[in-house]
Amino acid sequence: MRQLARKLQQFMVGRYGNDEFTLFLSLAGLILGLLANFKYLGFLYYIGAILIIFGLFRTLSKNYNARRKELNWYLLWSAKPKAEIKLLINRIQERETHKYFKCKNCKAVLRVPKGRGKIEITCPKCRAKVIKKT
Ligand SMILES: [Zn+2]
Repeated sequence: MRQLARKLQQFMVGRYGNDEFTLFLSLAGLILGLLANFKYLGFLYYIGAILIIFGLFRTLSKNYNARRKELNWYLLWSAKPKAEIKLLINRIQERETHKYFKCKNCKAVLRVPKGRGKIEITCPKCRAKVIKKT
């Protein structure tokens, strides 16, 4: 068993290994594989398999530059959805203590404590003022 571990270690020397993009590819591949069990969605199995194989290819690749470029692209692509998901989670967790507004001027998300009655809110980004009931 120890010898097998050493052989695996030697095999991975110089290889790119795992990163956030590969994790995303693997999870997306698994989810598509599960969805493929539903009627008319069988084709998703092949897309999921391609994502998982691409993830494996990235893990075993020795071309660090290309893999880093893919990772940078992924991080840029995923930044906005990740921020939106995080905001949604915060809104759900703080639904009893805070209220969220969108600034009409610059679209920034404003967070204010609940239960203060009518208050004037100043946007910290653009200084626009709005009166809201909290
Ligand atoms: Zn604003």
